[in-house]
Amino acid sequence: MEHFLCQRFGFDADGINVRLGLIGLSEPHSVQLSQELQTFVIRPNIDAIIDSFYEVLGRNPQFTEIVRSQSQFSRLKMTQRRYLLSLGEDFDTQQYFEERLRIGAVHQYVDVSLALYHSAYRLLQSLLIDNIPQELQSDPTHFRSLVQFIITITALDMSLTIETYYSDKVVSLERSIGSILDEGRALRRSLQTDSLTNLCSRAFAIEVLKEALPISQEKRRPLSVVMADLDHFKTINDQYGHLIGDKVLAAAASRLTYDSRDGDTIGRYGGEEFIMILDGTDIIDATQFAERIRSRMNADPFTVADLSIPVTISLGVAEAWDDDDAESLVARADRALYKAKAAGRDCVEAASAKGLPIDLVAES
Ligand code: GH3
Ligand code: MG
Ligand code: MG
Repeated sequence: MEHFLCQRFGFDADGINVRLGLIGLSEPHSVQLSQELQTFVIRPNIDAIIDSFYEVLGRNPQFTEIVRSQSQFSRLKMTQRRYLLSLGEDFDTQQYFEERLRIGAVHQYVDVSLALYHSAYRLLQSLLIDNIPQELQSDPTHFRSLVQFIITITALDMSLTIETYYSDKVVSLERSIGSILDEGRALRRSLQTDSLTNLCSRAFAIEVLKEALPISQEKRRPLSVVMADLDHFKTINDQYGHLIGDKVLAAAASRLTYDSRDGDTIGRYGGEEFIMILDGTDIIDATQFAERIRSRMNADPFTVADLSIPVTISLGVAEAWDDDDAESLVARADRALYKAKAAGRDCVEAASAKGLPIDLVAES
């Protein structure tokens, strides 16, 4: 049998000796006492001990909460019988330590509270002491050493089971914290990324804008927003079907990112609408950026499933005013986009600088 818990908890021969010394089980007569415990206390009285043990535990609501069915109860009694028959037997071996460490891990796994566990051990101690036969009690010194052995051997078992009980708790806690973090990260990624286009999500883009806008306003640094919408995309779906439409949409989305710089945020705003947040970019540069996107989209048709599908895009650009919030800025870029659509599509419109009519800036 692999003693993997012993290995994990450092119970090689040295580790075992250290623990036995610490708990007072290294004296030579301990082995003899362990045999007496089995021969005179446990084996002749095992049924009575088990019955009393479960009679008392059965009155504990924590216990009855865990052990509900008769079959669970019988299994438990069998386990307890095996446990008692091995109590103290070859206590200085890895096999003994391994089994005790396992008990702690199992109890932790089934979520038995340590308090209940402790009280069961305490109960067992007194039952064993109560069952020391009369003839051994007549020699007070002998009686005393047997009582002490019972207390010590159960203390060893307790200390080993508690060791794994807590350790496994920590391990599973770490695991659950790890998986919570992983889940959180995955959720955050899924909120941040649009799965069809791999651009960031609308919610994330707006979050970025809401964070960046007040900073750029305070620092008097330009910030522009570009809203874009694919032209007549409905006819692409109608002509080739939605699946092809999806592929064209994803390919078009990736073309939006060609010219982007670090710090630009490009997101899918809705169906085939996109938002670009260009922090540090004024309306002139933003309009040129939008124009590069427009001409790149127009230049080459997309090749999807051996089909050559031309796509054009319309874009509206707005630069932040110092009294803008995210909503008003996006709305102005959106109005510019609407103008581009109205102007015949496949073009870029820029919103005006504050107080100027929109067309002036668009022409500059
Ligand atoms: P225009 O913008 O030029 O006015 O015309 P349009 O045909 O693109 O009209 P609109 O923007 O109003 O409609 C968007 C169309 O894009 C409707 C819808 O079928 C399609 N669409 C939106 N989201 C998706 C998507 O995720 N996949 C596919 N295949 N099509 C989409
Ligand atoms: Mg469209
Ligand atoms: Mg649209």
